[in-house]
Amino acid sequence: MLKLTVLGSGGIFPDPQRGGPAYLISGQDHHLLLDAGPGALRSLIKTGVSPDDLDGVCITHQHTDHTSELLLLLDLERCRIRKKPLWFAGTSIIDELFDFHRDWGREQPYELPFVLKRLLLPGTGNIGPFAIEGVRVPHTKNSIGLRISIDDHTVVYPGDCGPGKEVIELARDADLLILECTMPSGSPSPTHLTPEDAADIALQSGAKQVVLSHFPPTADVAGAVTICRKVGVEVAAAQDGAEYVV
Ligand SMILES: [Zn+2]
Ligand SMILES: [Zn+2]
Repeated sequence: MLKLTVLGSGGIFPDPQRGGPAYLISGQDHHLLLDAGPGALRSLIKTGVSPDDLDGVCITHQHTDHTSELLLLLDLERCRIRKKPLWFAGTSIIDELFDFHRDWGREQPYELPFVLKRLLLPGTGNIGPFAIEGVRVPHTKNSIGLRISIDDHTVVYPGDCGPGKEVIELARDADLLILECTMPSGSPSPTHLTPEDAADIALQSGAKQVVLSHFPPTADVAGAVTICRKVGVEVAAAQDGAEYVV
């Protein structure tokens, strides 16, 4: 079993209804944070999961709406007694951020009181019971889409992305597919998805269930859901706190 909890269903624009991009994946008493946007830690503790319970954090790309609470989590865990290693999965750009933080305004770079482990993406690896695959997707030159499985249960989160066959292949036959839906209907972009793009990816990939997310405050959320349902996609619009089990 895999459980997705939406921690933040918004994008870069501050929104009273939605936190920045962040998702919690749970299975077999282990937990992964996917992206760490504004409000991620506050939303996390509302679910009853402590930051100390996290096995790892997967970062899709460096945009601040996806990373703004990453260093906050690192600082928080430096001040606590963590009983297990903390994994960070993503491209090497995360190491640049950590190196910067370790030196920033300090006479001596700090030492972490826990083991920090790295899973470099793109590539594959395991964090706890989770099998993780990361592939490049069209957004920034460092953007990674994630495919996460336990046994034969699979959740796919491409992060921010434009339409592309990499995204369709990543999402192939997924039980649950989290798709961004940043652009309004009829306004295609190479780096973000419209509702029509999301519907096309869902249909071509064979994903069983789709959750639309990363909505700007101006989004026509109901209209996006209607566009996807019209072509037969089983779809829901993400809300902060919503849970999905596959
Ligand atoms: Zn974003
Ligand atoms: Zn982005």
